[in-house]
Amino acid sequence: MTVFPLKFKPAADGGFFFADDAGGYFKSDEDFLSRYVSDTLSGSDREFLLRGGHAFEEPGDLAYAGFEFRFASRLYVPGPLDYIILVPTLRCNLACGYCQVSRVNENTPGFDWNADTVEAVIAFLGGISAPKMKIEFQGGEPTLRLDILSRIRDFCRSRFDQCEFVVCTNLQNLTDEIWDFLSLPDVFVSTSLDGDVSTHEFQRTFESRRTAQFVNNLDAAIARLGNGKVSALPTINPHRPPDPKSVIEAYTSRGMHSIYLRPVNFQGFARKRYDAHASSSIWNNYHSRFIDELVEYNWRAETPAEEYYFVHCLRRILRAGHNGHVDLRNPNVVGHGYVVIDHDGKIYPTDEARMVSRVGQFDLSMGDVFNGMSTATIDALNQEASNNFHPDCVHCAYQAFCGVDLVDDLSRYGRIDVPKHQTDFCQRHFAMFDKIFAMIYSDDPKVRKSMAIWAGVPNFDPSLARWHR
Ligand code: SF4
Repeated sequence: MTVFPLKFKPAADGGFFFADDAGGYFKSDEDFLSRYVSDTLSGSDREFLLRGGHAFEEPGDLAYAGFEFRFASRLYVPGPLDYIILVPTLRCNLACGYCQVSRVNENTPGFDWNADTVEAVIAFLGGISAPKMKIEFQGGEPTLRLDILSRIRDFCRSRFDQCEFVVCTNLQNLTDEIWDFLSLPDVFVSTSLDGDVSTHEFQRTFESRRTAQFVNNLDAAIARLGNGKVSALPTINPHRPPDPKSVIEAYTSRGMHSIYLRPVNFQGFARKRYDAHASSSIWNNYHSRFIDELVEYNWRAETPAEEYYFVHCLRRILRAGHNGHVDLRNPNVVGHGYVVIDHDGKIYPTDEARMVSRVGQFDLSMGDVFNGMSTATIDALNQEASNNFHPDCVHCAYQAFCGVDLVDDLSRYGRIDVPKHQTDFCQRHFAMFDKIFAMIYSDDPKVRKSMAIWAGVPNFDPSLARWHR
């Protein structure tokens, strides 16, 4: 019998956590670890490993093929280009302190698509062969150019079999025309509600009149468009976070039960205001407290709530192919399934790549809508986009569940070869997986209730917390 390589780490609650390259995992003790590393496995060790899919009798047998299938299923393969983020203007009617998108003031000229850019974007969209298309309008504040949004929408409807449009708006000033656009059946709204209302005012609106205007518009949007069409995200400053309870209350009281906590993204111009290093441990503590608060909430609540990214990571542990988040994939090949078109017609593989380029760190553009795409730079980056052979990740027990974010590394450190454990990406995900596995192995009925809900099963199956004793 041959054992597939096992990676291991001490578990917070005692014992050791083991995982293989295909994402199979279990816990055991130091004695087993000694037998494993000294190649003196007992009969019961061998039986456990074979039964759990961590070993095979001979190459090509069922256990071997099953492992290879599970391993391959965890790898991300980009699909056709069918998701495009459009930035028709950089102008915005708010000036949030941490704005990631390098906005300009509402009245600044020269930061909108001109007529030539609009035509070139339409020609670019016309050259895409995918049958369906998702367009996300970002900015700046995209509703300042409703004329362009309408033009793009009309073209896409005539060009693709199926379309979906997401308007990322601050919901600050809404005219009748904007309401009409947002009310269309294939249009969805994405906005920001930074935790509780007072935090939102501190971070975004700065005065009570504007805060009230936003809150009225948000509540009206939910009432008029329905919950399924309005999503909101809180951007959290980990140095001044709102109380988790108040965030849960602000969202669930509006019927929004999936909360995607995002730390302030220390990229682009936001760097000038905030410390880009040393925030991951503060964030990890806050995020962990938030999850604990959700567990308490779900114990009593009629309609449970979730933290979107925690649930995404949990499901990524429990099953293969959960690649729906662009920040957590392996390999994280960029510039294929989706792209971003900036206010000047330049094409970028991700929004973060747009910011890295805009502040002059690196030029990560992939050509423009006038002359077409060129992927030479991105292809070079993509050669490093896998964690399977990374000299640090290859030893990490969480490697099969984790991913890579090279643009984030470039943005924060100006290079991609910083030791992984020193990166914000690694520190945040390592802590996240620690938390999830502590909860998978928890006996607390409150934790088990939430974990079942978040895993999408009626009861949390104890076999998910496998031990070899
Ligand atoms: S980035 Fe960190 S947590 Fe993720 S696999 Fe690599 S070492 Fe592990």
